[in-house]
Amino acid sequence: MQKLLLYWFKENKRDLPWRTNPDWYKTFLSEIILQQTTVVQGWPYFQKFLKKYPNINSLALANEHDVLHLWAGLGYYARARNMLKAAKIISQKYNGKFPQDYKTALSLPGIGPYSASAILSISFNLPFSVMDGNVIRVISRIFAIKDDTRDPATLKFIKEKADSLLDKSEPGNFNEAMMELGATICLPSKPKCSGCPIHKNCSAYKRNLVDRIPYKSKPAKKKKKYNIVGVVMNKSKICIVRRPGTGFLAGLWEFPLIEVKTDDFSKINITDHFKKMYGLNVFREIESPKMRQTYSHIDLKFIAVTLRTGSKTILKNSYVESKWVKFEELENFAIHNGHKKIIEWLKLSKLITKSEG
Ligand code: SF4
Repeated sequence: MQKLLLYWFKENKRDLPWRTNPDWYKTFLSEIILQQTTVVQGWPYFQKFLKKYPNINSLALANEHDVLHLWAGLGYYARARNMLKAAKIISQKYNGKFPQDYKTALSLPGIGPYSASAILSISFNLPFSVMDGNVIRVISRIFAIKDDTRDPATLKFIKEKADSLLDKSEPGNFNEAMMELGATICLPSKPKCSGCPIHKNCSAYKRNLVDRIPYKSKPAKKKKKYNIVGVVMNKSKICIVRRPGTGFLAGLWEFPLIEVKTDDFSKINITDHFKKMYGLNVFREIESPKMRQTYSHIDLKFIAVTLRTGSKTILKNSYVESKWVKFEELENFAIHNGHKKIIEWLKLSKLITKSEG
């Protein structure tokens, strides 16, 4: 089965930018960018990063602000921060070379079992099997594993199966082949079994269980949160604030906001809240439609309100920094995706334009 899969992969693999003149730095970049991101979404980010930081030492010299700015829109910003920290450690402590020992690789920020195994097998041909969503699906089907893949015990069992299948002579190609099969043939719904190179070895296919495997129980409910976000303006300047360096959306910029308990935003006295919380006397102008942003554990509904003030002194509360910037300068800051929607609303409704700045 392994040889069939390897042959299929060599004949059919997609032409992806990190597969052109591959080296470990490209694998490192691509594996971090592609975590929780599709190839289509991650592709342009990989190219931007490779162009600006063509090797590990240039990435190690970057500052966090520039890296976050280049990363903006990809979400999960902790990944970008960890990538930068790992680059600095590799450059300074390991002489610019990725450590080829599994435990040492795991000690790097942002490098978990998946990334360590992927980089070590793909770039250094070391025998570590990978487990991502695609591989979990393929293995579950090959062995007709019906258990809940949200259960760590099931994942442990699947990992043992992945280890047992790994072709030790070509571990990198084999891992890539498994992931490629999951991404292009063994799809979550309507897998293309008739064109699958290993359908004769697939228990789920032979037992007509493909539609039922893998099984994943429903996730815990997301916590609902509600915000009123103030686009606070003093003449042509807009106030932005930076979140603390740890925790949810760490270190990112946003517009100051108030957390409320309901999405019936009309009941809230916004000017009072901004006075109490930020020490600002504001005059309320235009309100946006309701917007929504979902995170792994939070379902956030919010509106934005444009507020005028004569002051430039804002109480920081939990924020670590505040700035008053022109509208066109907003794009220079790593503003998280939820509040980027507010910038889009401001642009579309022409409430603030470049010329006003
Ligand atoms: S036969 Fe179908 S279900 Fe089995 S591995 Fe191939 S594509 Fe997946």
